[in-house]
Amino acid sequence: MTTTQDDADWVRFTDDTGLPEPQAPLLPQSPWRVLVIDDDDDVHRATVFALDGVLLFDRPIAFLHAHSAAQAREVLLREDDVALVLLDVVMETPHAGLELVAFIRQTARKAATRVVLRTGQPGYAPEHDTMVRYDINDYTTKSELTHHKLLATVAAAVRSYDQICTIDAHRDGLALIARGTSTLLETTGLLPFAHGVIAQLAALLHMRPDDLVCAVQEADASPPRVLVATGAYAVCAGQTLAQLGHAPWHRLLADALQGRVSHHSGHEVVLEFGPPGGMAMAVYARTPKPLRDVDHSLLDVLSSNLRVCARHMALLNKLHADAYTDSLLKVPNRLSFMEDISAVLHRGQRDMAIALLDIDDFAAVNDLMGHAYGDQVLLALTHRLGEHLGPEVVLARVSSNAFGLLGQRHQVAPGRVQALLQAPLLIHGKPHRVSVTLGMADLDSSSSSGEDWLKNVSIALKQAKRNSRGSFEYFSAHLANEARSRAQLLAALHAAFDADRLYLAFQPQVDLASGALVGLEALMRWRTEDGRLVAPDQFIPVAEQSGLIVSLGDWVLQTACVVMRRLLERGTAPQRMAVNVSVVQFQSAGFLERVTQALSVAGLQGRHLELEITESVAMLGSGVVKPLLGQLRAMGVSVAIDDFGTGYSSLSYLEQLPLDRIKIDRAFVRQLEHSGGLRIAAMIAELGHTLGVRVLAEGIEHEASWAALRHMGVHEGQGFLIGKPMAEPELLHWLAAPPALPLAN
Ligand code: C2E
Ligand code: MG
Ligand code: MG
Repeated sequence: MTTTQDDADWVRFTDDTGLPEPQAPLLPQSPWRVLVIDDDDDVHRATVFALDGVLLFDRPIAFLHAHSAAQAREVLLREDDVALVLLDVVMETPHAGLELVAFIRQTARKAATRVVLRTGQPGYAPEHDTMVRYDINDYTTKSELTHHKLLATVAAAVRSYDQICTIDAHRDGLALIARGTSTLLETTGLLPFAHGVIAQLAALLHMRPDDLVCAVQEADASPPRVLVATGAYAVCAGQTLAQLGHAPWHRLLADALQGRVSHHSGHEVVLEFGPPGGMAMAVYARTPKPLRDVDHSLLDVLSSNLRVCARHMALLNKLHADAYTDSLLKVPNRLSFMEDISAVLHRGQRDMAIALLDIDDFAAVNDLMGHAYGDQVLLALTHRLGEHLGPEVVLARVSSNAFGLLGQRHQVAPGRVQALLQAPLLIHGKPHRVSVTLGMADLDSSSSSGEDWLKNVSIALKQAKRNSRGSFEYFSAHLANEARSRAQLLAALHAAFDADRLYLAFQPQVDLASGALVGLEALMRWRTEDGRLVAPDQFIPVAEQSGLIVSLGDWVLQTACVVMRRLLERGTAPQRMAVNVSVVQFQSAGFLERVTQALSVAGLQGRHLELEITESVAMLGSGVVKPLLGQLRAMGVSVAIDDFGTGYSSLSYLEQLPLDRIKIDRAFVRQLEHSGGLRIAAMIAELGHTLGVRVLAEGIEHEASWAALRHMGVHEGQGFLIGKPMAEPELLHWLAAPPALPLAN
């Protein structure tokens, strides 16, 4: 390269003009460090003389000297940032110089340092491939190195060194940003994110993560505040910028947050990187060294990268919040509740308890008043509980109408919780009373999983509901065992149903005066694979709790209708076939349609079917029951109240229902020998007469009972004395040759 003084804009001599330097950098620029290696002192002197006072690209030159290869090795290992080595090829040995080049690249690991070889005699020029392999910039004879030629060579070398350093800084900076990005992308939560940003900025600026501040403004109206601050600024964490006075960095941060702009110059960096449309976030740092050009472009890359990460984090946080929060009530949801329980167990906190709070009859509130009203009830309840239980108790919504409470035992004690709901809630300014049933569990180390404890407390809640609404029950190992056997029984029942191991038995019902067969009651039977019969009293409640009773009941209804049809065709059928209907089945959607369908599939008229409902069905409420019974009656289907006298029917209410029959429970019939039993049976018979319905007595086992019932005016009867429940083949025999009945008295 040849350069004349005129086009050499890269070179200035400080003493050229003697004028003050208008463009002189305000900040002291570090010099280009040039290492001269030569065993000839004159060469050292001549080189320094030639380059003394020169500014290359605004930076002076500083010399390092080595007079032997050994000395050079020392210097190269010790010194950093060596821009150029001017190296004598021939020193102690003819190859000492070339060996040093290998040392520079491989041992001293100075890849960016430029190397210019110089030799006294021609003929020692290195091979071309050596020049390339060791990245040697130039080769000259010492005689060629005139003042200008030396300047041009040195200038080209430092420019090249500077470019390599810039590229390296870019590459390292970008690698750092890329690594930091993947870490930040995995971060959830504002605080860890802010810490991550500070660490990344510090690494990029080659400073320790001290004296950095990260601030946010979460919504336009909210005051900007310091999220994380390190080093001397650590005391500012959590404060609003307004509280921090008017120091220049407060202003810089406030401006960046407000204007959503980044700014970096000199020693100061403020990067704004809040996600578009989301909160504003900015980080401030004061660098020990002035920023280089490469720093500015890397900071630009960093800030746009941080913005992407912040957006990602905001989305993740929203997803997280959605996954852990109930959208209506804005309280933790089931998942969150389970994790909170696990965390309490993990921390080994003592005396903690959970409560599962179920709102009694909430489904009816929704049905009658509408879902919007139901939502208001939930909101008011959340408010009431949250307000009185305080922030120390976790209040979560764990299902549509159940809340979870987690706190110290005394804080979530059932008495305290129930007392909070003594006063009615206010819905649209009107009082609304709620009663709740509670499942309770004292947390201990028997399980460390929140999920298990939620199961346990649900078992307790179910038991409490079975006991009575508005009550509470504590979880115990005994309850867990019972629940486990119920679950096993249910699984076995499912399997038996699927494998057609259920069948029906039919029990005759007769007219007590004439002994004539008037009906049959279909009763479900389950014979297990090992031939054991499971009593309906055992499996029907389990089927009811699980809802399986709806399908079982449909099957009973269809099968009973088909059997009745067959009996009619044989000419041995009584007037009616009675089928038991559980409360769950009666309330299930489309019940009436399924009754109609069972009749039509079997080709049976409604008058051949009777449905036995319990008092609990009758008491569901006239709004539901009365129209349904009316429609059944319109189809000719008759309705009997089963097990009469064991429930809590309101007589005035019963009177309004279109009923055909009441069945005196067998418990009263069994006690006919005792005066109490007699009185009750007689009262029920009397009541039947008053209501104008037929009366049937269940469980007649003795002739004396038959006679007594008949004298009371009970119309019909059913019991082992007349006939046990029989499977279809046995029933056919029975019907063909009915046993003699005690009609004499
Ligand atoms: P339930 O409807 O009151 O049925 C009468 C029960 O009394 C039957 O018991 C029957 O075997 C029994 N029984 C009849 N006569 C006598 C007697 O003289 N002495 C004695 N000690 N018992 C007698 P089972 O079959 O064990 O049924 C028990 C209960 O299970 C039934 O009471 C009914 O509530 C329910 N159940 C049975 N089958 C069904 C069904 O298909 N659907 C529904 N929802 N419930 C059913
Ligand atoms: Mg019955
Ligand atoms: Mg009964």
